Amino acid sequence: MQVSPDIIFAKQNPNFRENLPVMKKYLHQLLGDIAFAKANVSSPYPEKTSYEIWEWVSEEEEEKTAPRIPLEAWTGIKKEQLPPADMLTDEEIHLIFPPLKEMLEAYNWLIVFVIEVPERLQYKALRENFDQEAVQKRWHMGLFETCKKGTPHGQCALGEEYCQCAYFAELHKDMVDEDLTPEEERARELDCEITYLKIRHGSDWMRYYPYHLDPDYDDKDGNPHDYGFGDLDEEEDEDDWWKK
Ligand SMILES: [Zn+2]
Repeated sequence: MQVSPDIIFAKQNPNFRENLPVMKKYLHQLLGDIAFAKANVSSPYPEKTSYEIWEWVSEEEEEKTAPRIPLEAWTGIKKEQLPPADMLTDEEIHLIFPPLKEMLEAYNWLIVFVIEVPERLQYKALRENFDQEAVQKRWHMGLFETCKKGTPHGQCALGEEYCQCAYFAELHKDMVDEDLTPEEERARELDCEITYLKIRHGSDWMRYYPYHLDPDYDDKDGNPHDYGFGDLDEEEDEDDWWKK
């Protein structure tokens, strides 16, 4: 049986909760390690001040071809170094979570929540998934996986209420296994997109309005906002990223 990291941590730091100075000292050390990791990002790419445009690759291509590395090895921060959320007060979580988030940004491996999630749960999701593999991207944004692959929806660290994979599945569930006319399919896509935008951008969502999906904005030649990106089959492929 695998020993849980929580138990290893508790064994290594038996007085963590009871002994305030020990805990304070520990978190202080940890913050030092996080700051060091943030300031020393190793990159598999040659150091350059500018990149040639012909080196650019599409997001899909980069996802496939960019080097992969365990996040623990890359950052030098081990999951076991991060105290389990249950051992920390809200103040302590607030002390270490924002620096961890900034560190991940420095690695272009961002932890992003599309819906508002309490910081304690954000930290929990970060800690529980910290032993993941990161993709070392230089052209596109890399995203930290907040829901462990293969975990049933709602049973990850984020739980029933905040699970992001469940959220995206819900958003897309009406789109599968149905015989829709192209018009119906487009209407559904418009619905999904608007739902997503409202959650993502709040009252600002209209700024990102998907005009190309709205038949009201069509003219006699089709839709002037659709620059060839609206091909339904292609979009379906791209929309699959959350399943993988
Ligand atoms: Zn989840």
